[in-house]
Amino acid sequence: MTKSILISRGLSDGALALMPRDVSVDLNGHEIPLTRQELLARLAGKQGLICQITDIIDDEVLATPGLKVVSNVAVGYNNIDVDAAKRRGITVTNTPDVLTETTADFAWALLMAAARRVVEADRYARSGQWTTWKWDLLWGVDVYGKTLGVLGFGRIGRAVARRALGFDMRVLYHDTVRSAPDVERSLNATYVDKDTLLREADFVSLHVLLSAETRHLVDERALRSMKKSAVLVNAARGPIVDEAALARALREKWIAAAGLDVFEHEPKIHPDLLPLDNVVMAPHIASASFDTRVAMSTLAVKNCLAVLDGKPPLTPVT
Ligand code: NAP
Repeated sequence: MTKSILISRGLSDGALALMPRDVSVDLNGHEIPLTRQELLARLAGKQGLICQITDIIDDEVLATPGLKVVSNVAVGYNNIDVDAAKRRGITVTNTPDVLTETTADFAWALLMAAARRVVEADRYARSGQWTTWKWDLLWGVDVYGKTLGVLGFGRIGRAVARRALGFDMRVLYHDTVRSAPDVERSLNATYVDKDTLLREADFVSLHVLLSAETRHLVDERALRSMKKSAVLVNAARGPIVDEAALARALREKWIAAAGLDVFEHEPKIHPDLLPLDNVVMAPHIASASFDTRVAMSTLAVKNCLAVLDGKPPLTPVT
């Protein structure tokens, strides 16, 4: 039987070139994601699906007869009902590691931009208001020598912590499990409970996965427990933060600033965040470098092909 794969949205050309001639590929080449009806209709008769985080892969989608593998082009897989896939014997794969450093770079870009008010400065420089050098213009907060709190000390959280070594920062971290002593030593990181991290960190960077447990992990109580001078960075998933509470926290100055790559109801942004100067926002681009997008696409294609060839995938979730 001919192997057939649905690719829900464009991938890099190099990754598409890996597809063997005998595999039939149905590629959605449009910018816009497939609607649910289109996804269900085009998936019929396919054994493989290569999808993006905008595709909701629930039990109804997974019920497609003959479907063997769902290959997500992302490390996070909160868009997929993994338990339903397991029940149905469908393999789910993701793209860990290849995006770790790029995402950590961007979390730092948000941290620095929020701390040093880079976006406000850019707007001011272009506005025509800059008529003379002013010593009290756009003061920010120092990063060097401060305390970084990393919530979720997995691949990306650790990569973020590693960058803090160059800023001579104290690093506090919290995770479901404590890291090995050699990891803590090499990253100069101290394991603390979540409340201590929130209370003591000057910068709180979120790197947990999105799950039922981590939804609104940063809620009003958490925000009120942070320093008034603190900066929150979220380059993980939007629903980890209660966005309405964050908008209040920023407006009423419970915390100083935030850097956000992700939002609770993407692509919508809470309207109360939009007028605020003390938040730097990006449209979910933390892993969006040329090299990393190629690597993510390539890994997703290889995962899908491996399963269809009856081999173990490179990076399975289940
Ligand atoms: P990872 O290695 O699995 O790290 C996640 C860490 O969070 C794990 O150590 C996990 O522990 C921990 N964790 C889970 N629940 C927790 C909780 N309640 N409290 C504290 N720690 C908890 O994943 P990663 O590769 O670093 O990626 C992390 C997330 O970043 C992804 O899931 C994705 O959503 C997001 N991401 C976003 C972008 C973007 O474009 N903005 C790009 C890449 C990744 P356990 O292993 O014990 O569960």
